[in-house]
Formats: sequence, C-alpha cells, structure tokens
Amino acid sequence: MELTTNPENKQVGDLSFPARKVWLKTYGCQMNYHDSERILAHLSELNFTPTDDQNDADLLLFNTCAIRDLANQKFYSHLGETKKFKDVKIGVSGCIAQTDSKELLKKYKHLNFAFGTDAVDNVKEMVYRAYAGEDKFAVTSWDKTGDYSIETKITHGSPQAFVNIIKGCDKFCSYCIVPFTRGREKSRRLQEVVDDVTKLVQHSGIQEVTLLGQNVNSYGKDNGESLAQLITELEKISGLQLIRYTTSHPYDVSDELIAVHGTSKKLSNHLHLPIQSGSNTVLQRMLREYTVEHYLGLVEKLRKSNPNIVISSDIIAGFPNETQEEHQATLDLLKQARFDFIYSYAFSSRPGTKAARMNDILDDEVRGQRLRQIQAQQIEIQAEVRQEMVGKTYRVLVEEKTAFKNEEKWKARTNCNRIVHFQTSAGENLQWNWVDVKVVSATALSCQAEFITSYGRFLN
Ligand code: SF4
Repeated sequence: MELTTNPENKQVGDLSFPARKVWLKTYGCQMNYHDSERILAHLSELNFTPTDDQNDADLLLFNTCAIRDLANQKFYSHLGETKKFKDVKIGVSGCIAQTDSKELLKKYKHLNFAFGTDAVDNVKEMVYRAYAGEDKFAVTSWDKTGDYSIETKITHGSPQAFVNIIKGCDKFCSYCIVPFTRGREKSRRLQEVVDDVTKLVQHSGIQEVTLLGQNVNSYGKDNGESLAQLITELEKISGLQLIRYTTSHPYDVSDELIAVHGTSKKLSNHLHLPIQSGSNTVLQRMLREYTVEHYLGLVEKLRKSNPNIVISSDIIAGFPNETQEEHQATLDLLKQARFDFIYSYAFSSRPGTKAARMNDILDDEVRGQRLRQIQAQQIEIQAEVRQEMVGKTYRVLVEEKTAFKNEEKWKARTNCNRIVHFQTSAGENLQWNWVDVKVVSATALSCQAEFITSYGRFLN
C-alpha cells in the first residue's frame, strides 16, 4: 500500500485535516517496528505521510523500547532535543509510554500525549484529540475484551511482511520487563490470520511472512489452536513462498512444531531459539522454565526433523551473581550447540523486574569481559559453521544494494536467514527478485557469492 496524502483537506469528525507530515522514530524489537508500520497506516487516514526530516514534520512520534538501557537513554535525549520544534505535536508510544507516561508528561513539558502498547490501533483517536486542542493526556489502559483481532497493515513495497499473531507474554522471566509493558498473552484466531495472509499475498504482493509474538510458540493456547496448525494452514496459500516466526521460548516448542519443521515446504530453515545461559542455576534465577539438557534435546530433535535447519540464539552475559563456573558453562554450551549466530548482551537491570532487586556483586568490567569472551568464542564457531556454505547454491531474495568494502553489491537473504553479497555484470535492478547464487567464500561475518540466475519478483 502506498501512503498518499489528499491535497484537499480531509474532514474527520469535527476537524479538518490538511495534508501533513509525520516523523516516527522506532526503538527496539521487530514488534515495535511492526507497531510503527500500523501507526503510519492508521495516520494515513488522517492525511499524514511519513517524512525522515524532523524539520519537515507536523507530528513527531517516538515508539519506544524499555528492554535495553542504551535505547532508553537515546530516546530520552532525543525527546529532550525536540523541545526546539515549535508548532508541532509530539507523542510517545510503546513500552516506555506504557509504564512511565505520567513521568514523561511531567518531565517533558513540550510532550503533548503518550499511549501504551495496547493503544497502537487507536493512534488516530490520540492524534485527533491532540489536534482538537487536548494536551498532556495518556492512554495506557489494557484492552480487556477477550479477542485479539487485527488486520495487518502494509506501508512498504517489499514482498516481506510481519504478521502479529499473539501479543503479550505470560512467562515473567526475572530480567524482562515485557509482561509489564505488553500485558498478558492473547492470540488471534487461526482463521483470521490465514485470511489476513491470503489477502496480503493476493492484494499486496507479499511472498514472505514473519509471524510475530513475544512468545510466538505460545500461539493459540487460549483458543485450543497452535503455531504448528497455523503454519500447516498458511502453507496452503498459493503464492506464499516463505514462512518465518519469531521469537521462540524453548519451554513452548512442541513435538508437533518440531515435526512441522521437517514436513513443511515453506517454513524457513532457520529458527531463533534464545537460551540466554548455558548454566542451569542461572536459568533457574532467570525463571526460564527449562534446563540446558532440555534445550539441547530440542536442538537435536529439530536437526533430526530438518537436517538443513540452522539455529541462532540469545545470550545474556553476567546475569546477577553469575560465577566463573556458570559463565564457563555458557562458553561450553556454545561449543555444543554450534549456533549459526547469537545476539549477546551484557546484563542490564530493568527497573521493576525481579532481577533488578537481586543483590548483585558483579560489575560492568566483569560483564564486559565475559561478553567479549562469549562473542570471541561464537565468532570462531560461526566461522566454521559458515564454511559449510562454500560451494553450495542458494535461492535468495534480494533486498537492496549496499556498499560492501567500497564495492556496490547486492545484499540478499537465504531461506535460512543468512545474508549473502554478490555482484552482477549487467546493471539490472534485482531488488526483491528471487535469484540463485553460489557461495564462493564465507567467514563468520560475511558471505560472498556468484550470481547464477534470476527468477524475477515472483516464483511460480
Ligand atoms: S519469554 Fe521473552 S518476552 Fe516473555 S518474559 Fe521471557 S524474555 Fe520476556
């Protein structure tokens, strides 16, 4: 869907909306980027089009993340800087708005409104109220209706779409703020998601969907449905080429889902399965509800079910009071699991969580050192794992042209979510084409390929 403004004023209720520009800054996870896309799509109905230039904007919005301290600090400083803009409306949404709206509105006098994660689909109402003259208001109530029913909004021209299938999280891991910022789990009904994706494929040219949820494996529990059933139904949609899902919790990976990884022709050969630590005692303190043995058992079953699957993970270095032995267990786990890649972070305390109340003896230096050890170990393993790609042919979806070591190359993504770079002699535009490439070299962090052939934008 292209977002266009109406040169004429748009009449909405008692207000007239001339063509205006919205600048929206997103922090954090894919869920937030997905919410931002919904916000922009809703605002197009009030005659707003997006702009990258704050100076050009009539409305400034921040979609915030409460998980990472760094993102928090960046947001606060960025919001402070917007004080200089006159004649604009400024709003904050997302996780920080959900928990800290009152403080934000009190501290930042130039902020007009704030709304939480359950109010994203009511953004038009907030903006309407702001333009009607209401100021300093916040909407952070939870949607108490039983259903979670939405339609995916697309505001880009790519064939990839994020489709939210479950919101909230019931897990309460001791370090995580998400259950407090996103509320309890609620799943969309299976048939609604199937209809939604069918429409995306038939009307918006979507060929790849990523099913989203904070704990996507929990999908359907409240309705007697499951992620495995959903994937099996989505697989039947003609024209849909690739299905991904994220983020998974190991406790909720069912045998039924593992089996689908072996039988599905459209499910990605990649699974992101966060383990967080290789130590059972740390996992207990994290309230993660599984053991290292259980996790490795899942990895083994998944690899048996689909020998081509690649698995990635998340690791937190230096969880409160982590001993050297517990840290070593994580280094050992990396060797056993042989992940394709990891996202690794030094523990950072989130106010309001159980971990934030732990009496912690570790300091930043120890955390930084352990993080570097974890990353160095993973890079070694990753280099070996990625070597297996050399000489193999992959069908990839070309995403964009990028500068790679001072050369212009196409950047493409394999079915198993690895990035490859390649060049072509002709100057054709391959963006969003499916092409075959042969990998000629691979290191831990980059993969170079030779172009073989292009199939155009749509695979038959
Ligand atoms: S499962 Fe994920 S989102 Fe839920 S509490 Fe744990 S870390 Fe947070």
